[in-house]
Amino acid sequence: MAHTYSGGCEHVRTHSDAAPIDSHTCHCSVCKRVTTQATTHVVFFRHGDVVVDKLASLKRQPFNSENPSGPLELCTCAQCGKPIMLDDRQRRIRVIVPNLMGYDAKNLAPTYHAFYDPKTGAPRPDDGRPVYEALRPEFAWPAPA
Ligand SMILES: [Zn+2]
Ligand SMILES: [Zn+2]
Repeated sequence: MAHTYSGGCEHVRTHSDAAPIDSHTCHCSVCKRVTTQATTHVVFFRHGDVVVDKLASLKRQPFNSENPSGPLELCTCAQCGKPIMLDDRQRRIRVIVPNLMGYDAKNLAPTYHAFYDPKTGAPRPDDGRPVYEALRPEFAWPAPA
């Protein structure tokens, strides 16, 4: 059966039938380092909304290698190495980067820019979406699932 949002690799599939709680263009240094993209389209779902068919087939590593005790873990397929999701050890959210994790970005469009830091010298985004130096101010972390 078709799910509203789905992705993964040929070994591990993930999906959500619930809408994401946040979608932004991330300018942070960790995303830059991990994805090697200048900016990263990042989508937050509630932890309980992202279903993983084979959780045991994922390899986990700290998302931020410079802060290994941080809450986010990068989960990759143990077989092919493809990034599958970021999992929150506190079970608040699961994070999907559509273009790297097999999702169709079309219905997940980012609504703002997050963690923009003018000190990096990157030009301020001027596509009309709000630009913040953190997550959008009204974002509230959901309770753990
Ligand atoms: Zn980021
Ligand atoms: Zn795989």
